[in-house]
This record gives sequence, C-alpha cells and structure tokens, in this order.
Amino acid sequence: MNAPAPLTFIRQHLIDPEVCIRCNTCEETCPIDAITHDSRNYVVNVDICNGCMACISPCPTGSIDHWHPVLRSAAYSIKEQLSWDELPPKKDIDPNLGNEVALDNAGPANDGVQANAATSTSSAIPPWSAAHPYINLYALKSPLSASVSGNYRLTAPDVTSDVHHIVLDFGAQAFPILEGQSIGIIPPGADASGKPHYMRMYSVASPRTGERDGYNNMALTVKRVVEDHDGKPTRGVASNYLCDLAKGATVQVVGPFGVNYLMPNHPNSNILMICTGTGSAPMRAMTEHRRRLRVAGQPLSGKLMLFFGARNPEQLPYFGPLLKLPTDFIDKHFAFSRVPDQPKAYVQDKIRAAGTSVAELLKGDTYLYICGLKGMETGVMAALAEICGKHGLDWAALQVKMVQEGRFHVETY
Ligand code: NAP
Repeated sequence: MNAPAPLTFIRQHLIDPEVCIRCNTCEETCPIDAITHDSRNYVVNVDICNGCMACISPCPTGSIDHWHPVLRSAAYSIKEQLSWDELPPKKDIDPNLGNEVALDNAGPANDGVQANAATSTSSAIPPWSAAHPYINLYALKSPLSASVSGNYRLTAPDVTSDVHHIVLDFGAQAFPILEGQSIGIIPPGADASGKPHYMRMYSVASPRTGERDGYNNMALTVKRVVEDHDGKPTRGVASNYLCDLAKGATVQVVGPFGVNYLMPNHPNSNILMICTGTGSAPMRAMTEHRRRLRVAGQPLSGKLMLFFGARNPEQLPYFGPLLKLPTDFIDKHFAFSRVPDQPKAYVQDKIRAAGTSVAELLKGDTYLYICGLKGMETGVMAALAEICGKHGLDWAALQVKMVQEGRFHVETY
C-alpha cells in the first residue's frame, strides 16, 4: 500500500492590495515573470515564484513583502488574489503537519542585476548623494486634498496630442516631494463594477522647492488619453479628469512614492536624461532644480545632457522654455518623428549622432535616467551599447556597474 503524500507548507509570496500603488516595478523587476496584474491588482504566481527576493527592495511601498504560511496544496491561486481588496488573515499552520519547503523552482538568489544590450534593469538603490525621500505620507484611505492653482495646455492648440501642465497647491499641509518621485491621484466616481476608481500615478514635474520657488505647490505633466495602446478609442479616466480640472478645484492626492528614481545631490555629478513625451516630467523637475541651484550661485561642475523625443516641436512638452536654457547649462538633443519633409528621428538616433559626447559622459560620474514609452528601451540600449563599443567602453559591464551604484534609472510604460 502506498504511504499518503507528506503534507508540505510554504510561505506564499503575496502583495498587499491595500498598500500597493500599481506602479509595475515588481512586475518589471521579476526575473522569471512570476508577477502579473489586471486592471486592479498585482499578484504573484505561486507556481513560478522562487522566492529570489529581487522584487522586494525596489518596491516603493513595501506592499510586496508579505509571506503567508499555507499548505502547498491550498496555496492562493492568481484568480483568488485578483479578487482581493485586502490580504486574507494569516492562517495558523500546525508545524507538526509536515515540513516547510522552500518555494518551488528555488534557484540561486538573484540580485536583480542583469544586463545585455537589450535589457534595461533599473537600479534598486538611489544615487548615493540623493536627498532622503518621504514616502506614504498620505494613504489611499486618507488622501490629502490639494487645490488646482493652474491648468495649462502645453501642446499647440491645433495638434491632436493634448498635454497639460497642472499645478497643485497644498496650502498649509506638508507634502514634501523630490524630483523623480510620483504621486497618486484618485479620480472621483466608480468603475463599471461599482468600485471607487483606483488611483493613477503621475511623476512630479517640478523641483523640491515647489513649482513656484518657495511655494508649497507642485506640477504634473498629463496627456489626455483618448485611445489605447492599439489605437482604439478609449477615455482615460484620470487623465481626462485632470486635464478638465478648473482652477480652484479640489483633488485627492496620495503619496509621495518612490525611493530610487532620485537625482544625485553632489555638485560634480553628471545627469544624462532620455525621455519621450510626458516622460519629460521628471527631467523637467531635475533640470529646474539644477537651474535654480546655478542661479543661486552654487558651484556646480556636473554636466546635464538631454535627449527628448516627440512627434514634432508643437507636441513636445516644455519646448519653448527648454530652448531658452543656455547650452553651457544643458546639452539638449530633440528627436522629432513626424515632421513633414524630415526623416523620422527617435531619441536613439540622436544618442548615436552625439555618440562621442555621450561616451565621454558615461566615462565619468554620470547618472542615467530613462522615462517614457516602453518601446524606446530596446532602441536606447542598443544605441548605448553601440557607442560604447566605438569608444572603448564595455557597455554590458558598465551597465551592471551603474545599476549596482544607483546610477541607472528606468521608468517606462
Ligand atoms: P508619444 O507622444 O506617443 O511619443 C513620443 C515620441 O516617442 C514620438 O516621437 C514617438 O514616435 C516616439 N516613439 C515611439 N516609439 C518609439 C520607440 N520604439 N523608440 C523611440 N521613440 C519612440 O509619447 P506619450 O504619449 O507622451 O508617452 C509618454 C510615455 O511616458 C507614456 O507611456 C506615459 O505613460 C509615460 N510616462 C508618463 C509620466 C507622466 O507623469 N505623465 C511619467 C512617466 C512616464 P512615433 O509615434 O512617431 O513613432
């Protein structure tokens, strides 16, 4: 007669849906695609997760770090996890029932650092000199009310792309933010299933000292979403709500979020920025912070270099103000993809064209930031690998070093 199969229990990796801000960092970080999501929840597939912990430290909220003892045979399925609004209570497992086993597929711990020309793993630590960020000051259940002190269209009136610069004022309420951090906005109303709309994340587009220097306010760069990724008409709930806000309206704000995508504070650090469209928000914040320091007479020897892609100048957010920045302060390269009678150019083309300057920068104390369309990652990585090859640099090794040193930061959607 066969002996009954031994009972085994595991510590199942779960994500707390009440705290998770749906920033996609965990799914991007997981080296074995064990994390997935639907329109509401991020969840971990118990059949794939090997407990490597690569996703734990990049998570800006800590919602990722939950481990529930469960019988292996009764582990929570993806379907169950997607239906949760909160984590279930931890079960008491009798240790006499059987042995605890490591999660299936357990392999060597992965430190999350991988590199080749096509990947763009982001640093899981901030630059060593970054200021200390405040996070989670206002939670989903207790958001902060901010008032709209400005809402301006950034793109030309006759182009389809409707991008807004929205200024939020916090009055006497503390809401400290750093360049590169994000905030959550909770649109009013409910979704098709009757649940309150979930919050949406936006990068802060203004520096730490406020959109207006010395004021307790901040700015967002928001594109009105009118079609999905496949070009089918749709109406983005949060972006349309934000773009239509009148001056004086009240907005529910959550956050701040983000502990890694931060700028270096030491004055000789170089900043290399690569962005498309509204991915310019953190670049504007960092550039403006450095500009204010320079105006204040701070000795800054670090260089700024920007690669910025848009369809044409009329659709490039902040084009006018950017043009006014002196070239000895920032080396700017615009890539326009849809200008009549001009060849299509992407940021990676401009990186190649400025290869010598980029390679010089990469040889120094440089912090690299990528933000915008996910599609650009492959092209940008290939361009960086190519120019490094031409200038005696080993890009694969350099990228790993930059990731490990908090000098390589990617935020793409
Ligand atoms: P977009 O206008 O659709 O595109 C900007 C430019 O990128 C266009 O010239 C486009 O060219 C080009 N492009 C398309 N595919 C590319 C590729 N594979 N490589 C290089 N360039 C490529 O941009 P957007 O709609 O503003 O999107 C910006 C992205 O930033 C969004 O995904 C958004 O979620 C993200 N983001 C926004 C924020 C925020 O705070 N608002 C923060 C972080 C990230 P063509 O279209 O002509 O091919």
